[in-house]
Amino acid sequence: MKQTDAFGEWVFRVEPYDGESFGHYLGRFRRANCLSRHSLAELVGVTGVMIGDWETPSRRRTPTAKQLATLSQLFGITTEQLTQMLPCDPLVLNLRTRLCPACYAQVPIHQKVWQQAGVHVCELHQQPLLTACPACGTDFRLPALWEHGCCEYCWLPFSQMKPAL
Ligand SMILES: [Zn+2]
Ligand SMILES: [Zn+2]
Repeated sequence: MKQTDAFGEWVFRVEPYDGESFGHYLGRFRRANCLSRHSLAELVGVTGVMIGDWETPSRRRTPTAKQLATLSQLFGITTEQLTQMLPCDPLVLNLRTRLCPACYAQVPIHQKVWQQAGVHVCELHQQPLLTACPACGTDFRLPALWEHGCCEYCWLPFSQMKPAL
C-alpha cells in the first residue's frame, strides 16, 4: 500500500518483523522505495554517511530521539517499534554479522539478538550462530544488504546453510 507521509512523499510502508534488526529493516525500506542511502538521508535530513552508520552496527551510532521521531513519521511505524529494533546496548555488540539458518528459513530477517556479544548459540534451535558461509567461508554482508538471502559469493541460500559442528 502506498500512502503519502508527513513529508508529502509517496512511500511504500514496510512492516517490521518481531526481532528484526534496525539495519535489516532500513535495507528493506530502502529497496521497497528504491532509495539509495543518500536519497533516504535527504528525506530524513541527515547525511548519507549517517544512514551508512545506522546500517553498520559496529560503528555504534544510533539515531537521536529527534531523528527517531522523523524516521517513525517517514516509515509510518511508531517510535516504540523503531526503538525495539535498535541494539539494546551498542557497546556490547558482536562485530561480525551472524546468522541462524534455521531461524532465517522460518522468517527471512536478520535478528537483533544475533548482534549481542556473548550470544553464540540460537536459543530456539540450540545451534551455533554462523559467522561466515559454511560452503565457501565468505563473511556475511551487512544485514541491510541481504536482498537475496544467500551468500554473496557462492549463492548458497541462508536457509540451506548447515550449522558448523
Ligand atoms: Zn535459530
Ligand atoms: Zn558461500
